[in-house]
Amino acid sequence: MLGLMMDSPLLISSIMKHAERLYGDSEIVSITHDHALHRYNYRQAFARCRQLANAMAELGIQQGDVIGTLAWNDFRHFELYYASSCSGAVCHTINPRLFAEQLEYIINHAEDQWLFSDPMFVPLLEKLLPSIPNIKGFVILSDEAHMPETSLPNVYCYETLLAKQSDKFDWPELDERTASVICYTSGTTGNPKGVVYNHRSTILHAYALIMPDALCLSQRDSLLSVVPMFHVNAWGTPYAAPITGAKLVLPGPHMANGESLTNLMNSEKVTISAGVPTIWQALLQYLRDSGRTLDTVKRLIVGGAACPLSIMEEFEEHHNVYVHAAWGMTEMSPLGSVNTMKEDPASLPVEVFSKQRLKAGRAVFGVEMKIVDDDNRELPWDGEAFGSLKVRGPWVCSEYLKHDKPALDNNGWFDTGDIATITHDGYMQITDRSKDVIKSGGEWISSIDLENAAIGHPKVAQAAVIGVPDPKWTERPLLLVVRQAGEELSKEEILGWLEGKVASWWIPEDAVFVDELPMTATGKVSKKDLRQQFKEYSY
Ligand code: AMP
Repeated sequence: MLGLMMDSPLLISSIMKHAERLYGDSEIVSITHDHALHRYNYRQAFARCRQLANAMAELGIQQGDVIGTLAWNDFRHFELYYASSCSGAVCHTINPRLFAEQLEYIINHAEDQWLFSDPMFVPLLEKLLPSIPNIKGFVILSDEAHMPETSLPNVYCYETLLAKQSDKFDWPELDERTASVICYTSGTTGNPKGVVYNHRSTILHAYALIMPDALCLSQRDSLLSVVPMFHVNAWGTPYAAPITGAKLVLPGPHMANGESLTNLMNSEKVTISAGVPTIWQALLQYLRDSGRTLDTVKRLIVGGAACPLSIMEEFEEHHNVYVHAAWGMTEMSPLGSVNTMKEDPASLPVEVFSKQRLKAGRAVFGVEMKIVDDDNRELPWDGEAFGSLKVRGPWVCSEYLKHDKPALDNNGWFDTGDIATITHDGYMQITDRSKDVIKSGGEWISSIDLENAAIGHPKVAQAAVIGVPDPKWTERPLLLVVRQAGEELSKEEILGWLEGKVASWWIPEDAVFVDELPMTATGKVSKKDLRQQFKEYSY
């Protein structure tokens, strides 16, 4: 027997309708190249989305067409998200930090037809032009006064296009499985792979994101999204904020600028923000140097990489901001788990609390997890066994765009490529990417645990651990350290600091001081480049 409830499709256009009716006055505030601070509300934003949908139709963009965006987090990128997906087109958010060959590959592979770009990426597009022959034209995200000079053909000004359009547009009733956004993985090996989200997965993911033990977002919040809108939909925040009526604050090109972030946080009364650890490190550095404080922020969600304990503690002790770790990936829209503890932190002994909060947390409802060994046998949730982390759920990728290999195993599980432990009560901890795992004497050493311990040293700005070949143990860990500016730190001091903080046989063979660590296009330390850099190294 089937149930007798309405079969309403889960569509992104329903977010617009809901927010416009109930939270029309809630604001979206953003920095752009042509506005020091642009401010409008959801009512105005969604009226402009309808104008944009009309403009897209006039350009000949139809249902199923893919448009590419090269843009920072701001109101125009927000409008593009909604107008494209809700009119049945697909928004391909392009990471401008990718190499030219990767950009060329993904624009052609996704079959982008139009590119909507911030003015600062115009020189990049001019260089790419000969290798992206299928692009029909370019729309520059600007007003007429700030349009750049360009040799690109068929170029339009976004504001001029919109100005002449009606703000009436009937959003089509799409199949909820219609593609909404494409985001490519950063692709450290081989070509990037396209992940294609749909309306249904986006809505279900947004529901999970706003739950109390995840973002716990409400209409009383002001949310600063420091995760790029070109990478995994800024973690779904542009959907979560209007669902709840929260104010949305978008930092434009100034993502890692501590001063700009502090100004925005304090002037826009930001209560919650989300970003990767390197962003929070930059913010803390600015706050330390300037002596400023954060006045209204209550919580930060940190994901994308393991967050060092020292960052969590400094935010709490100096700014009264609680930091939660979260885990996810492009293929998971991205949310998998958030570390919101059951216990009141004050009721736990400090060492227990510190250890517990470093974990990536418990799976949000909708994501199933398991860890398996090399023979795909499930491992126990005992907090000890390390295994490959597999997931499944309605916002997990089932296959990559036009890819020949299946993304799932025979039982429908997606292998995340992460190695993790899970405690009996479900707290998952990432110990490594499987590609970065260090196997020493047949046992695994967690580079993430070692890095966390090293970063806890007050004279360490950044740390990374890679495996280097060893004739006796196969591999041994090598610690690479960037010192805090102006600090003296010796090898003996940093290796000595690790004693007692990790198992004695994990202590790296050597520590090497470097000026900087190579980063990937998504702001993570590139272990692949480090291994290449240190391939001749011997201790
Ligand atoms: P991406 O698809 O570029 O967003 O990267 C996803 C990967 O980032 C995951 O598979 C993990 O390796 C890593 N990652 C994300 N969150 C965390 C976390 N909280 N702790 C450790 N690694 C993380």
